[in-house]
Amino acid sequence: MKKSQLLIDGQWVDALAGETIDVIDPCTAIPFGTIARGQVQDVDRAVKAAQGALDGAWGRMTATERGRILQRLAQIIVANGEELAQLEARDTGKPMSVARADAAAVARYFEFYGGAADKIHGQTIPYLNGYNVSVVRVPHGVTGHIIPWNYPAQMMGRTLAPALAMGNAAVVKPSEDACLSALKLAELAMEAGLPPGALNIVTGYGAEAGAALTAHPGVNFVTFTGSPEAGILVQQATARNNVPCVLELGGKSPQIVFEDADFDKAIPIIVKAISQNAGQTCSAGSRLLIQQSVYDDVIKAVAKRFSQLRVGTPEMDLDCGPLISARQQSRVHAFIRNAVEQGIPLLAQGELADGLSNKGFFIAPALFGQVPRDTRIATQEIFGPVLSAIPFFNEEDAIQLANATEFGLVAGVWTENGSRQSRVAQRVASGQVFINCYGAGGGVELPFGGVKKSGYGREKGFVALEEMSTTKTIVQHFE
Ligand code: NAD
Repeated sequence: MKKSQLLIDGQWVDALAGETIDVIDPCTAIPFGTIARGQVQDVDRAVKAAQGALDGAWGRMTATERGRILQRLAQIIVANGEELAQLEARDTGKPMSVARADAAAVARYFEFYGGAADKIHGQTIPYLNGYNVSVVRVPHGVTGHIIPWNYPAQMMGRTLAPALAMGNAAVVKPSEDACLSALKLAELAMEAGLPPGALNIVTGYGAEAGAALTAHPGVNFVTFTGSPEAGILVQQATARNNVPCVLELGGKSPQIVFEDADFDKAIPIIVKAISQNAGQTCSAGSRLLIQQSVYDDVIKAVAKRFSQLRVGTPEMDLDCGPLISARQQSRVHAFIRNAVEQGIPLLAQGELADGLSNKGFFIAPALFGQVPRDTRIATQEIFGPVLSAIPFFNEEDAIQLANATEFGLVAGVWTENGSRQSRVAQRVASGQVFINCYGAGGGVELPFGGVKKSGYGREKGFVALEEMSTTKTIVQHFE
């Protein structure tokens, strides 16, 4: 059993209370390690260490030096990619090919933001005679990062790389359900030359370490990805200290298929957009909206593909792994049971591979058809491999339906009509729109984040560097 510790001020340490949390293998439900159960006093040490880094070597570094460290880290991640992927797959159960892609994506985050670190320039502003005015970008200071369990490594790269590029010092609270890759990345960051205290990791429960971090008066900015309920608690905590946060709270993203779509191209991508990572993706395409005139043909083809989905262990490298925990498994089962009880047609299910442990958190992907528009599976985020297909009449109806949830993270539009592509892209309420493709969160370069209850603020792309910093206006009078 491997025992993991906290990283505070460059040192690996136990939680002050000495308590631990079991690390559970989602394929077997058997513990295979422990993480430290960090609490309020551990968070306090981490925040002080981060402040110390800002006052010390890290705070004095030039943007170019910071960028070089991040780019070196990217190279070290690539060199350790297989180990990172194995760790991520063991911790989350995801197929090895997905875990490998995640490891490559983390490296890309540090490469991209490492390269960008010294390319964020300020402005000069023409003002009154006898004045020089410059606007410079400055870091927030100590940043808190709350990370979920679905893509732990990628999320760490997404939030941490721009924060460090801008010169913040970070305290990361990964999910208690999957945090081994975050700890490994921290180890690699130290190897890359990140000074002590610039990155601190406090593992533990959300209600303990997470709540302590978001409420700490020494934290100047928070990023959070997770459930809307926890997002509200994060906002309340940061509001008490009057500090900003960026929230990514999931979605119920529509994939809209018009009658003139290229179905052969669309259908495999539509199925992947919900089965990827066993549906545990904030930007999963979980609502399939199909124009009535082609509904029967499209749903038949989607059902055929759905029934071919296979679920297994990371080593089997099939379409889906298990869900992350027994809690998520029973939550997703409850959605499926409820839909069946309501008489919603269950059109197709994937299959579990032979020989899986019956204690593992596996679940067969499920496709529901003719889903009534106001039902739970049509409107709520399930966070599992469950696709709800709903027919629509015309373009106006499709847009109304696409926008008929509380969320607005991503949308997919399938049509060969260029004007319709533009009209729908303009009117659909979401942070990203994919036309004749579906990115499910991909692309380090692409600004990402939600509207409505999917959250606010943006990550990824250059815009993340603005989120992770603020401006200072310097006005100089000269004679
Ligand atoms: P969660 O929101 O409870 O946990 C996400 C992270 O927030 C974890 O690190 C957790 O420890 C932390 N956290 C929890 N409560 C906190 C608090 N009060 N203060 C600070 N941090 C806190 O998510 P969950 O319980 O793991 O999953 C529940 C549901 O959330 C899922 O079924 C899914 O719908 C949604 N979810 C969404 C995403 C996403 O990417 N949008 C990711 C994970 C979960």
